[in-house]
Amino acid sequence: MKIGDIISDLEQWAPPFLQESYDNSGLIVGAKDWDTKGVLVALDCLEEVVDEAIDKDISLIVTHHPIVFSGLKRFNGATYIERVVMKAIKNDIAIYAIHTNLDNVHWGVNAKIIQMLGLEKHSVLSPMKNSLKKFQVYVPSSHAESVESAVFSAGGGKVSAYEECSFKSNGVGSFKGGKGTNPFIGEAGKREFVEEIKLEFIVPAFVVKDVERAARTAHPYEEMAFEWLAIENNATLYGAGAVGEFEKPIKFHTFLEDVKTAFGTTLKYTPSPKDTVQRVAVCGGSGSFLLGAAKAVEADVFITADYKYHQFFDADGTISILDVGHFESEQFTIDLIADRLSEKFPKFAVLKTEVNTNPIQYY
Ligand SMILES: [Zn+2]
Repeated sequence: MKIGDIISDLEQWAPPFLQESYDNSGLIVGAKDWDTKGVLVALDCLEEVVDEAIDKDISLIVTHHPIVFSGLKRFNGATYIERVVMKAIKNDIAIYAIHTNLDNVHWGVNAKIIQMLGLEKHSVLSPMKNSLKKFQVYVPSSHAESVESAVFSAGGGKVSAYEECSFKSNGVGSFKGGKGTNPFIGEAGKREFVEEIKLEFIVPAFVVKDVERAARTAHPYEEMAFEWLAIENNATLYGAGAVGEFEKPIKFHTFLEDVKTAFGTTLKYTPSPKDTVQRVAVCGGSGSFLLGAAKAVEADVFITADYKYHQFFDADGTISILDVGHFESEQFTIDLIADRLSEKFPKFAVLKTEVNTNPIQYY
């Protein structure tokens, strides 16, 4: 299988457009036209993981964390990052990272945590701004259906869990073709009036180019009449963190035990203002930036990682902060990615790393 085929599936699932500005998700080492006999999934790419790929004769490693975050100037093996990149290139091993773009989709890293904790009513904790656009296009009625289905196939008309959403209204369009035009209806130099349909769609921002190209291909006019509009709607499917609820409140100390078991780790936490827990906000990895959002949705607890001493004071008697550790909070992401690939490529070898890449040990 070509590495590019696997990447294009992963990018449909977690569009790179959704990654944060500081991130470096994508194909970091290798080329899309390389062949691979399988995929090795890991949270981090260490030298041992590259060795494992070599042993298992696999040419593609998919990790959550990008091995390279910022520019490298030398490749002489002085750091583990350089050694990983050098070893991968020497052995024709590609490395692909699916990082904050997988954090920022409703079905991503945090969905898995919500599922592992048995929470229901799952929604995005901090919906992404400017991730939706409005597309309006004016079409003669003969071509309305084909333009509409072209927009749908390019990913337009998606609103939360609903697909193929559109709005139609009838009206009369007018135009006069200038010199050198060849209008689809009527003739150049004469003002024409045509029964047209106005089609309106909500479009995720990362498919605007695809949608416009598809509409243009299906549209019969030389000059397609259309508008892109900025809208204020927050996307319910894209954004950081997640929130969910237990069917019934559970005792705070029972909850702590359950979290310890689910993540297989010790906890650092601030005391709960209440005896029970029902609404839980989560963010895999470094999530302290979402404390305000967790408070805003009135979560009883906020589970995340990488909290610093002074940041714990921000709980301020209104919420319990639980720090479960960075690796621990994101450990299920390996299953998440592997399950997706196994489902989409059932006859293909999808392996989870046997290397424990957590750099932290507990004594
Ligand atoms: Zn992380």
